[in-house]
This record gives sequence, structure tokens and C-alpha cells, in this order.
Amino acid sequence: MRHVLTLDQGTTSSRALVVAADGRVVGRGQREFTQHFPQPGWVEHDPEEIWATTLASAREALAEAGVVPDAIGITNQRETIVLWDRATGRPLDRALVWQDRRTTQRCLALRAAGQADAIHQATGLVPDPYFSATKLEWLLEHKARAAGVPTDRLAAGTIDTWLIWRLTNGAVHATDPTNASRTMLYDINTGAWSPQLQALFNVPSGILPEVRPSAGDFGTSAAEHLGHAMPIRGVAGDQQAALFGQGCWEAGQSKNTYGTGAFMLLHTGPARPVGGQGILTTIACDAEGRAAYALEASIFVAGAAVQWLRDGLGLLSKAPESEAMARSLSGNDGVYFVPALTGLGAPSWEPEARGTIVGLTRGTTREHLVRAALEAMAYGTADVLEAMRGASGAPLEVLRVDGGATFNDWLMQFQADVLGVPVERPDVIETTAMGAAGLAGIAAGVWPDAAAFFASRSYHRFAPAAGANGARAGLGGWRRAVRASVAWARERGRARCRAPRRTGDADARADAPGPRRATYVRRSRP
Ligand code: ADP
Repeated sequence: MRHVLTLDQGTTSSRALVVAADGRVVGRGQREFTQHFPQPGWVEHDPEEIWATTLASAREALAEAGVVPDAIGITNQRETIVLWDRATGRPLDRALVWQDRRTTQRCLALRAAGQADAIHQATGLVPDPYFSATKLEWLLEHKARAAGVPTDRLAAGTIDTWLIWRLTNGAVHATDPTNASRTMLYDINTGAWSPQLQALFNVPSGILPEVRPSAGDFGTSAAEHLGHAMPIRGVAGDQQAALFGQGCWEAGQSKNTYGTGAFMLLHTGPARPVGGQGILTTIACDAEGRAAYALEASIFVAGAAVQWLRDGLGLLSKAPESEAMARSLSGNDGVYFVPALTGLGAPSWEPEARGTIVGLTRGTTREHLVRAALEAMAYGTADVLEAMRGASGAPLEVLRVDGGATFNDWLMQFQADVLGVPVERPDVIETTAMGAAGLAGIAAGVWPDAAAFFASRSYHRFAPAAGANGARAGLGGWRRAVRASVAWARERGRARCRAPRRTGDADARADAPGPRRATYVRRSRP
């Protein structure tokens, strides 16, 4: 039996999985690591701790499995950037994490300077601190220059690159197109680093890694790290790895992760789609692990709405109770909950929107509110997928799902009913790690092709039942509720335009009389 070791380096923990050719997971390891918040809005990780926890989790998984894997696959938190000195092997600073907002002003200035269109055209992204480019620019300016390290000794990379470099003892400085496409330095049309963007962000050529195919050759891990020399053959950013792990490698195939928020990718095949409405274009993998395109969007609050009903309102004691509560009703009785607790993402894009519950009557119970929170996940997903379909022209064939809330069978059936396409939930839920295993295993011949890899996976299928639950019919009510939530935010915005600028409660400010002044500026889209 042949095996693949996957290193799954996430935002809060480093995990490792040993996957057998028959799809079984035969070894697991996991280590959490420190989150550093040195200033408000700053989020950092120690690259040495990332390396140490990655090694420890891999050794744990290998010890449990008791096998020598044929290849290593790597998947990682995306956008997080490390800058290090090739001569010493030491990072110049902590890694700046994707959540870090220190470059907000720089991104606003880029927009003000009219750079957004050119950046979007080249990268499929919008200028935002989320992506690596402005963080790398910050590191170069504040750390490299201060330390006086000559440019030819600098190396930069996302977490995959950092791990590859360490595993190969500095022999390989490389990344893959899926990770590169999240840096805002990579031209997704040409499949190469953009000289214009490197100039814009003051990134010297030579410090960026070589971009190699996701199912490709990333060198060999030196024996001293994991007990044996092993070839590194698969690399992908976490969301694209999950897409591949879910068997989505052709146009029209989509995955959604239902966790705290929801993360959706729709594969659009070899042609670049249009994007828009807060939907990003990104690089994904085809069945051979070659670069293809996908649309990507997120819903900020998904399972977190259930959490809020549990912890904030005390309507239930455990999230899984939501299933029986939803089932106990034959319909939603016109109650909708728009969980815009932190604003609305794609496709509405209203950062000022806030949570809205509509349709309450004397007959409304806690079951209605809980059901409405579950329905919101399904309806929000349907809205994003519809916008994606509009942007790509690709029909939706199947939605493959993962994340904590997918254990809710009622929600999964409701989702299938709303979409009118099958929803499929894998039996092994670690889809991100499985995706990296698939890429590495295909490149190393553990599986002859993607179909053979996918044949080792099993799914529970929720087929759409026409008219069941009144699910599709409820979409109209949901959209009306979303419009109400957006209107509430915009009304406040208009009121603010009339109000004098002063500190204090936003609503008091909005209601205050004063001269007409355009002091309200809509917050920009992330
Ligand atoms: P994350 O990785 O973002 O922390 P998880 O994938 O672990 O999230 O999913 C946890 C989220 O899913 C929580 O917000 C929780 O409220 C929700 N959740 C967990 N189980 C259920 C369930 N059975 N029904 C509905 N929501 C659930």
C-alpha cells in the first residue's frame, strides 16, 4: 500500500495526515501555535513556531501510521507572508498574517490613485490588506531596510514556500499558482509574476519564489526532518486544496465550507471568468493539477449565527440542537434572519448592514429564529452561487460541502432544495488535507489520475426534492429581508450625509440636525 503525508498548515494550528492509497487516514497529528497581536489590527505568526509545529504534527502522524509515505503534499493558510535571509535562514520578522490590517491606508491610497482596475485585471483581486503584496512591501520597508540585509540575500514567500525551503534545507525556493494568485503580485492571465505589480509594490525581482505546477516537483525533504527523505509533489492554498479534495476540477463544480463563515469556490475551467459583485477570480487546479480558474467569495457570518443564538440569546445549548428545532416546524411562517452581524459580503456588499430579523408575529418561537439562522446559510449560499453563475456562465452541477455545520442533515437537505442541485458531503471531512494529498499522490503515482484518487472517497448525497419545505419559494422572502437590511444601512448613510461631523453615537449623529454636508463615505469593499 502506498501513502501520502499531507502537511496542513492552518491559521491556528499545524496539522498532518497520512493518507493511504485506498483513501483511509492512517495517521494524524496536530499542534496549535501562538497568535501575536502586537497592535490593534496587527496579526502575526512566528515562522519558526510554524516550522516547529509543522514538524511535530508530521512526526506524530508518521509515528501513528508506521509507514514511509511516497510523497509529501502541502496546503496552507493563504496570503500570510514571510521574509527571510537566505544566508542565515532566519526570518527578518514574524509572518504577517492574512488577517493583518496594517496596510489599510496603503490600499485606500491605491484605490484613490485609480489602481484598482489594473490590479483587478492582472490579479482577479481588489486592493486590500488581506493579500500579500502590501504586507511584503511593509516588511521590505520596515524590516529589510532597517536590518540592512542586501537584496540578493532576501527571500520571500507564503507559508508553503517557507515550509518547502526549510524541508529542502534551502535547496528549493518555490510556490504554486494557487498560492501565487493570492499575493496580488501574480498575473493570472500570463501565469507569471507581474513586473508592473512588483514595481508598484517595490518588490525586487529575485526575492519571489519560482512558480511550479501544483502537482509538480518541489524537491526532496531532507531525511533529518522526518526520518526519511521524501519528495514534495503537491502544493495548494487551503481553499483551492479543498476544492480539489472535493473532486471539483471542472467548470460548474463548486464547494462550500460552512464554518464560522462560509467559503465558496466555483470552478470555471480554463477560461478566465468575469468576476465582480465582490466575487474574486483566483487560480484553481484542473484534474492534472494544472492551473485553471475559479470564482471565490465568502459569507462573513454562517455558523456564527447559530453560535450567536446559542451564546448571545441562549436559545439553544448546543449547535446540533438546531437540527431538531428546525425540523419541528413545517415552514418558516415568514420569519427571516439576515445575519449581517458584521456587514454583508457578496453579492450585496453593504459593510454598514447589520443583523435583521423580519416577519415576527405573536406566534413566533425560538424555533423560528433558529430555523431562520439555518435557512440564512442556505439562502446566502444560493445568492452567492447565482452571482457566480452569472459571472462565469458555467452551470452549477453539484455543490460539495464541508465544515462544522454540514453535520446538520436538515440544513443540507434544505440547501439541495433551495439550489435544485445535489449537495454532497464527504465521509472524510478533512477535504483541505485530502486535496493536497491528491495533488501529491497523483504527481507521485500513488493514484494514476484524479478519478482514481476521487474513487477512494465516499459521499452522502442530498438530492433536491422539488417543492419540499417551500425552500425555493422562500428565496423571494429572504431577498426582501436582505433588501430591508441594506435599506436600513443606507438610510443611515443618507442621514449621515445631512448630519454635522462630530463624535458620539452613530445614530445620534445621523439624527442630528445640521447643514447638508457629504461627510458619509461608504466603506470600501474588502
Ligand atoms: P471554523 O473552522 O470556522 O471554526 P467549523 O467548521 O468547526 O468552523 O464549524 C463550526 C461552526 O458550525 C460554528 O459556528 C457552529 O455554530 C456551526 N455548527 C456546528 N455544528 C452545527 C450543526 N449541527 N448545525 C448548525 N450549525 C452547526
